[in-house]
Amino acid sequence: MFTKILIANRGEIACRVIATCRRLGIRTVAVYSEADASARHVRLADEAHCVGPAASRDSYLRVERILEVAKHSGAQAIHPGYGFLSENAAFAQACADAGIVFIGPPAGAIRAMGSKSAAKALMDSAGVPLVPGFHGDEQDAHYLHGQADQIGYPVLIKASAGGGGKGMRIVERSEDFRAALASCQREARSSFGDERVLIEKYLVRPRHIEIQVFADMHGNVIHLHERDCSAQRRHQKVVEEAPAPGMSAERRAAMGKAACDAARAVGYVGAGTVEFIADSSGAFYFMEMNTRLQVEHPVTEMITGQDLVEWQLRIAAGEPLPLTQDQVPLNGHAIEVRVYAEEPEKGFLPSIGRLAHYAPPTPSANVRIDSGVEQGDEIGPHYDPMIAKLIVWDAQRARAIERMLAALADFRIVGVGNNLAFLSRLVDHPEFRAGRVDTGLIERARDELLAAETKLAPVAVEAAALWTLTREAQRLRQRAQHSADSHSPWGIADGWRMNGVQTRRLEFAAGALTQAVEVEYGTEGLKLGGQPVRISDAAEALCFAIGEHRTTAVVVEGSEQLHVFTPGRRSVLRRIDPLLHAGEAQDSHGGLVAPMPGKIVAILAAVGADVEKGTPLLVMEAMKMEHTLCAPSKGRVRAFLYAVGDQVKDGVELIDFEGTT
Ligand code: ADP
Ligand code: ADP
Ligand code: MG
Repeated sequence: MFTKILIANRGEIACRVIATCRRLGIRTVAVYSEADASARHVRLADEAHCVGPAASRDSYLRVERILEVAKHSGAQAIHPGYGFLSENAAFAQACADAGIVFIGPPAGAIRAMGSKSAAKALMDSAGVPLVPGFHGDEQDAHYLHGQADQIGYPVLIKASAGGGGKGMRIVERSEDFRAALASCQREARSSFGDERVLIEKYLVRPRHIEIQVFADMHGNVIHLHERDCSAQRRHQKVVEEAPAPGMSAERRAAMGKAACDAARAVGYVGAGTVEFIADSSGAFYFMEMNTRLQVEHPVTEMITGQDLVEWQLRIAAGEPLPLTQDQVPLNGHAIEVRVYAEEPEKGFLPSIGRLAHYAPPTPSANVRIDSGVEQGDEIGPHYDPMIAKLIVWDAQRARAIERMLAALADFRIVGVGNNLAFLSRLVDHPEFRAGRVDTGLIERARDELLAAETKLAPVAVEAAALWTLTREAQRLRQRAQHSADSHSPWGIADGWRMNGVQTRRLEFAAGALTQAVEVEYGTEGLKLGGQPVRISDAAEALCFAIGEHRTTAVVVEGSEQLHVFTPGRRSVLRRIDPLLHAGEAQDSHGGLVAPMPGKIVAILAAVGADVEKGTPLLVMEAMKMEHTLCAPSKGRVRAFLYAVGDQVKDGVELIDFEGTT
């Protein structure tokens, strides 16, 4: 077995590979781009080397540079993860030439499967069933049009070199063919530098079912059952599960055999996935083979109890497959969702920003999180916007769905747009629940999956109100402690003890919905809607009881909104404060909180100083970067609430500032 390997990737998959290496006592070498200098995979690896600037082609795709790092660091093998160089035959060959083991199939197998057209021709001769279509060398537009007419519409034009759903065009009518062909070729040329295409019969409401295969160097080939990845958006997987709903043992055996035949036909070694498309009658056809570890491999790990990265490492080191076909377990049901930094309500636009708050659900035997990020990390524009994969397992599919919904409800992300709510609705959709999943489900259910909320959750509004009040009280206390003048009224003020009974109305909004709560505070303490309120903790989470009803909520402040996480629900609320002159007054207080956890490194103004808008007031250091907080308006610095050297939490108020107009 290897004692040291290099991981030529980033993000969750690099972290995932490191985890197995740790367990097996293999040392790890990470590579990173300048944008990833403090990324989680760099922090986790035993050593890490910068391979260039942020753009992938200048860093993660630099074959020579990566091999140089491997040799220099004494790594015996390279794990390519997925994406990047994982399906690059020239890279696999360059590793072999440099005497470094490529943890993947031989270059010849990658090459054989690299062109969808050539792969289909090869599969045809191996007796693997194919979707009817044309996958020959002839690329003349007139000729291709004739082929499409013969296949019968609708047809699908695909880039032979394609991947990630790029270039695919559905053509419904013969008269639309030429334009679709030209546009597919354009995208193929720009994405893959190769404009060759193939044409397939476009199946209506098909399912995407793929088989995980493994082969060793001793001629053994087995499969580890199927995964259903039919829940897709624009031909990209969103939810994956194993086993496939409704799969019979016979069909599994038939698809498994076809997949193993496909692997044998190209002299396969290592982990691979044979993707099939299945129609409603149950017939299945070869689509392509991915010659690498797949994003969704964890669902297979959950139902088989195996570590597929360990299998990859052992096979690459020359060991035989650890199990025979009959020994491969199949227990229960696993579901994975891909948590993306994107905004479903804005056409799934990728979202970039800092993870101001990031709290995945607690891992357990039933819940797994594969993530490449931690709170405070940046989701940048350079790479795939996947934040994490959430995987759940239970004995039956219905229970796994409940696990998933619970885990999604516990997942808290603030700072970048994300698809958590969308995923919850999808997994909760009656068609998904019933296992009636095909590749068109998301598009058909689009309106339901993206519908705006029709009602504010009262408990979220209550939590937001109580959080607002406790924070006000804390700020008053902080001011009192830091106030130079101990006789100032701030020194004795306490948000909870006012003279007589006082009632306040706090109003919150989400989109067009608004809701107000009346809070009363007097000698008996707080009351909300006439019911006594007890707050037992207001630190990490806000634990409160209204009457007999207890709730734990997490409230996170972010860009003038409150993200309120109550059991099973997330709400983003905006405070409507009639006393604040919108904009102006908020402006003078905004921006003087810590934008992220860090350390105060300099105080640049004197207490009591009158300053102009934009005057630098304080410098803090976070994530190896310095951030300067400036005066949000013309005004006066009343107090600095922390001293140089203090560690501060994200979101705490740092400067007591009074704006003047
Ligand atoms: P899979 O079938 O395993 O989901 P796809 O065929 O959809 O994989 O695409 C390959 C995988 O590589 C995707 O999951 C995608 O997220 C990943 N990928 C593609 N480009 C990049 C990139 N620039 N950085 C990281 N990962 C990438
Ligand atoms: P990629 O390399 O981009 O992953 P695939 O050939 O694997 O391309 O196809 C991606 C997805 O496109 C499939 O999972 C399926 O949803 C859809 N698709 C592919 N071929 C067909 C087809 N012939 N009919 C209908 N849908 C298809
Ligand atoms: Mg595919």
